[in-house]
Amino acid sequence: MKPANFDVKTHHRSEMIDISSQVAAVVRKSGVASGVATVFVPHTTAGVTINENADPDVPHDILASLEAAVPWRQPFYQHGEGNSAAHVKSTLVGCSAAVPVADGQLVLGTWQAVFFCEFDGPRTRRCLVTVTGG
Ligand code: ZN
Repeated sequence: MKPANFDVKTHHRSEMIDISSQVAAVVRKSGVASGVATVFVPHTTAGVTINENADPDVPHDILASLEAAVPWRQPFYQHGEGNSAAHVKSTLVGCSAAVPVADGQLVLGTWQAVFFCEFDGPRTRRCLVTVTGG
């Protein structure tokens, strides 16, 4: 099965955008009642993660912590494009997330959301979603 996809427009260099509703829409359209939805980000300077969307301070603090751990400029970076920090953050966060599907809906915890993570924006990005099951 070919993955469904949707675009995400980002507005800042680093940003976390809640894409749960877009992923849920793909699941609904797939007709899969029970299985798993895999979200994949085909980019080397972005990622996807699952975390709290109730308090906007949480994504803020995650981004601030990643920035503290992986500053934009470091004397030892060699990558000529100048966005090594974004590549490192992408690897730390990861480029895929799996969410269980039951009764045709994403099974997320009360406070959980699926976030697209931009690390070298603003850009228009793509998310792929594969829904497997029956
Ligand atoms: Zn690069």
